Amino acid sequence: MLHNRSIGELAESLARKEISSVELTRHFLARIEAMNPTLNALITVTAPQALAEAAAADRRRAAGEHGPLLGIPLIHKDIFCTDGVRTSCGSRMLDSFVAPYDATVVERLKAAGAVTLGKANMDEFAMGSSNETSYYGPVRNPWDPARVPGGSSGGSAASVAARLAPFATGTDTGGSIRQPAALTGITGIKPTYGRVSRYGMIAFASSLDQAGVFARSAADAAFALQAMSGFDPRDSTSVDAPVPDYAGTLDAPLAGLRIGLLKEFFEGLEPRNAALIEAAIGVLRGLGAVTREVSLPSLPLSVPTYYVVAPAECSSNLSRFDGVRYGHRCENPKDLADLYQRSRGEGFGAEVKRRIMTGTYVLSAGYFDAYYLKAQKVRQLITDDFRRAFAEVDLLVSPTTPTPAFGIGAKVDDPVTMYLNDIYTIGANLAGLPALSAPCGFVDGLPMGVQLIGPHFAEARLLNAAHQYQRATDWHRRAAPGYA
Ligand code: GLN
Repeated sequence: MLHNRSIGELAESLARKEISSVELTRHFLARIEAMNPTLNALITVTAPQALAEAAAADRRRAAGEHGPLLGIPLIHKDIFCTDGVRTSCGSRMLDSFVAPYDATVVERLKAAGAVTLGKANMDEFAMGSSNETSYYGPVRNPWDPARVPGGSSGGSAASVAARLAPFATGTDTGGSIRQPAALTGITGIKPTYGRVSRYGMIAFASSLDQAGVFARSAADAAFALQAMSGFDPRDSTSVDAPVPDYAGTLDAPLAGLRIGLLKEFFEGLEPRNAALIEAAIGVLRGLGAVTREVSLPSLPLSVPTYYVVAPAECSSNLSRFDGVRYGHRCENPKDLADLYQRSRGEGFGAEVKRRIMTGTYVLSAGYFDAYYLKAQKVRQLITDDFRRAFAEVDLLVSPTTPTPAFGIGAKVDDPVTMYLNDIYTIGANLAGLPALSAPCGFVDGLPMGVQLIGPHFAEARLLNAAHQYQRATDWHRRAAPGYA
């Protein structure tokens, strides 16, 4: 079936004119129509635009153009501004916001000829680990519709897992690509901070937010990341460094690759999860990697550090949504204060309000030193721990999540338990490092992921190691029942 083919295989069929992009786009749109009512993975489906973009891709190909993404469909997380298309960020606040321009990520994928099928559901303003904070309702996990797909990019992950598109974009501030990739059995990569432009990506916590990719395999992710990456003068934190050929280095042998096993992350790990990670490490060893244990003593502080820094930045970023400049405006305000209070009160959901309040508190004059400044210092200690580790090893390996997908509703009333889902992923964001999650097996019939973390700008190494692992295993080929 078309939807089970890799991006490389689809590109070949398009090049040989066995299929057209219009046919391919119709195929995926039909799957979305049939399956999205159950999954709730997409907020907006842009069928007419998608077919027009597909026809344009077919014309470009007929005119002699080629490229790995020319005519390949994708879904964008609804955090990326899309010209002329609603960009809601999962919030009532932006329910009627139609972006007047494309985010750089969107623009670059369009230039590569990729076809946008629609916009994926997500946690409100990307705050969450389960996709339950969305104004548009929870996304369901294709492996079990009673369970969450993870978050905040849950709609993107569920879409790729259900084969509604060959790939999707996401963003990762504390784990929102890797965690849902793990819980839905697909591959997700968060690149180095600065590798992909944040221009036109609605800000949550600017020093942590980074765009990345969901695909079924590392090889597919390589094509997508290639098209998205690179310097953008419109993002002041974008890094002006050449982008390596990710697809071209996938086949490099792993012999001699030095892998560090994160001691702090293996302590107290649930035995079945530990067994899967051990097995993945065994495969990497079989491919020639050498392993050793490494300790990052400050790493266990990453969750509390993140939950000071991220809310602080969000309280500032979200102040722009005031009912005047953007977003939801309340009916018949009495005066200016009433306009602000009710517009923000009605426009934001409970989790976003919790973060804004926490963030405002930690930034306030009396508590700034005790919380925000302290968190920034601990963030530096965590970054230093990683730097020391990467003087000795090329990659770090750990689980991606503590548990498989949990039930919808199981953790919503307990924010701290919810926050602990990201215990293994947040460190990479605090240090700005690239990290990838690849499927590595099942617990109770539900997919689990293994995480690879690399030094800054080592995306090629992560994709190479994951690709070699995927050549030796078939976890990434498993489809959820009913979605094969
Ligand atoms: N789950 C984390 C949070 O709620 C991370 C979210 C993200 O990466 N966008 O903030």
